[in-house]
Amino acid sequence: MPIQRKLQQIQQQISQACARANRSINDVHIIAVTKSVTVERTQEALYAGLTHLGENRPEGLLAKQAGIDTPAIWHYIGSLQTRKVKQVINNVQVLHSLDRMSLADEIQKRVTQKIDCFVQVNVSGEQAKHGIELKDVHSFIESLSDHHQIRIIGLMTMAPNTSDEQVIRNVFKSLKDMQMNIASKGYVHAPCTELSMGMSNDFEIAIEEGATYVRIGTALVGDESEDLT
Ligand SMILES: *Cc1c(COP(=O)(O)O)cnc(C)c1O
Repeated sequence: MPIQRKLQQIQQQISQACARANRSINDVHIIAVTKSVTVERTQEALYAGLTHLGENRPEGLLAKQAGIDTPAIWHYIGSLQTRKVKQVINNVQVLHSLDRMSLADEIQKRVTQKIDCFVQVNVSGEQAKHGIELKDVHSFIESLSDHHQIRIIGLMTMAPNTSDEQVIRNVFKSLKDMQMNIASKGYVHAPCTELSMGMSNDFEIAIEEGATYVRIGTALVGDESEDLT
């Protein structure tokens, strides 16, 4: 299906979720996650009117950027190895996966202008997940105040892989609570007004719970296995 059509469906779902939550659609941004599709399909996403693109590997990011002729806002959404920071950090506008001090140190060293970052939080506490535990988020953000090139614009999480909607909803609620808590501190280096949460299967729940950035791949651009015509 053309991205244009999928985008219309998703925009409809977003506006319904916003209506249920009494929110403005202007406060919800769609990041098209293009990690599993071709450069051509990524270009189609931009022609369809999408402006935010998400990639999760340095190679994918650089290949897309080399092949695309339309301006875009690039989001790095994957976990980032310290040794790959220099390949990535000056080629994106937003990093969604700041999850440890060693990564912050390397970014501070390599980045040539201030970079907007989300702190990735492992709300559910699953062993296999990346992210700072909820109980450590506040002290982590506090200790970033001397990293002058890093601006913490919000918190990011990935919901657990479950069909239990209530479990997913509670994860998003917890992230929202923590985001408001940090925002209330008034840190200059961490305004923390944004929430990056919600993917193809759970973006409506995420929006009901306050997401300002949803990261949508499969439902919007499909993946490589799909017919790309
Ligand atoms: C792949 C990915 C997404 C998009 O997932 P879909 O289920 O395809 O929408 C969102 N966020 C992150 C961090 C991802 O790696």
